[in-house]
Amino acid sequence: MMNKPQALHNSLTGIKGLVFNEPLLFEMGSPGRTAYSLPKCDVPEVELEAILPATEIRNPIDNLPELTELDVVRHFTRLSQWNFSIDTNFYPLGSCTMKYNPKVNNETANLSGFAQHHPYTPETLSQGSLQLMFELQEYLKEISGMAHVSLQPAAGAHGELAGMLMIHAYHSTQGTQRKKVILPDSAHGTNPASAALCGYSVIQIQSDERGLIDPKKLESIMDEETAAIMLTNPNTLGIFETDILKISEIVHSKGGLVYCDGANLNAIMGKTKLNRMGVDVLHFNLHKTFSTPHGGGGPGAGPIGVAEKLSPFLPKPIIEHADGKYTLNHDRPDSIGKMKAFYGNFGILVRAYTYIRSLGPEGIKQVAEMAVLNANYIKASLYKHYHLPYNGPSLHECVFNDKLQLKNKVSTMDIAKMLIDYGFHPPTVYFPLVVKGALMIEPTETESKETLDDFIVTMKKIAELAETKPEVFHGAPHMPVVSRPDEITAARNPKLRWKPERSELS
Ligand SMILES: *Cc1c(COP(=O)(O)O)cnc(C)c1O
Repeated sequence: MMNKPQALHNSLTGIKGLVFNEPLLFEMGSPGRTAYSLPKCDVPEVELEAILPATEIRNPIDNLPELTELDVVRHFTRLSQWNFSIDTNFYPLGSCTMKYNPKVNNETANLSGFAQHHPYTPETLSQGSLQLMFELQEYLKEISGMAHVSLQPAAGAHGELAGMLMIHAYHSTQGTQRKKVILPDSAHGTNPASAALCGYSVIQIQSDERGLIDPKKLESIMDEETAAIMLTNPNTLGIFETDILKISEIVHSKGGLVYCDGANLNAIMGKTKLNRMGVDVLHFNLHKTFSTPHGGGGPGAGPIGVAEKLSPFLPKPIIEHADGKYTLNHDRPDSIGKMKAFYGNFGILVRAYTYIRSLGPEGIKQVAEMAVLNANYIKASLYKHYHLPYNGPSLHECVFNDKLQLKNKVSTMDIAKMLIDYGFHPPTVYFPLVVKGALMIEPTETESKETLDDFIVTMKKIAELAETKPEVFHGAPHMPVVSRPDEITAARNPKLRWKPERSELS
């Protein structure tokens, strides 16, 4: 199984150690094995049917595997070792800001006063948790320059929805509701989805040759039927929208609002503030910028920040602080309502709070500087080996494509898969859509120069292989237990209720 192709021999090893071809639980075990041992029953045994109504008793399950505790522990521990995580290696997944999650964040989130604090505890007995949330809001206000922050939304996309609902509520109070939202073609897919969910039609604006929004083009499509522009700054090409002041002026002059997708805040935090750019609504991704865990379906957190004029519409309740007491105010008649049960994903908020407190203002600024430096180091090291469609100054990520490699029929997907053989998580691929065959690399600030150099050497090696031995890309990755799963079938037709026949298992 571990057929390491000749061409891959260099000082960088791929997956090392003992990797087993793990059977399914259904293929293991033996009748009569159990994962528990209980003392002999000292009361008379009765049949289940004698004490429970038939409707409450489930049917027997066929082929339920019978296993010992050790069988189960080994099975799941081995599977967990097939996983790739930020704790195992470099994860330059562009736009996702896969920075290291410091363990101290987990320590504080696990303090029993936080972890075991029941959300129905009365406010008077919840002062510490309320204070933490209030202060986290204050920090996010300070970092972004926004007038108010709500911590409720559970992810970036959820923050976008909350923000668009607030924009919708705002226009409702201005007389007539508007119909359109303008988005650049480099936008993340969640942006048009959030606008559409609020009933807006999405108007796309093409990026210019710099990869930016052209104010002249914007001026020609912005009108009084447009509710807002949704942009990302720096944008998904890693480039700062240099005309942002002109852009927000154009939108505001027609009564529209500026929504900023804050997923790329890592590049600019501590250096500038979004309110200075005319932003009216911003979402934060705590699981990107603020080092809380990312992936696996959450939980994440996507707080929103708003300008003063949108404050009546904030999700309720809001946390207030007066006379040394923290309280929750539910009396908010213009609020868009609740976005999340209780107050959001509290454990994630504790982690982000810890991160901000442990860095302090200087540390926050250094994060942005190092993130930009690392991305530019990679860009400067690789631009002769991979095509750079937009070669202007860039910030925290760089976007290459496969133009040079396609001559030898090696595509972005092949390059991404080959990186797995060298022990690296692939960059984001085929996004943003404005770059054909995009390879979007975001190293983040937490990586050492040694790690970046390993990655750069590998990327150069892969570019060389694409020239000299393009055939080795067929079937890459060669090292992992599973090579190229059919991702589309897995997503569209997942087999969730597979009941194997014994014959299928052998
Ligand atoms: C990650 C991301 C989002 C969505 O955030 P989630 O927390 O994954 O919902 C939106 N926009 C951009 C640019 C992103 O990178």
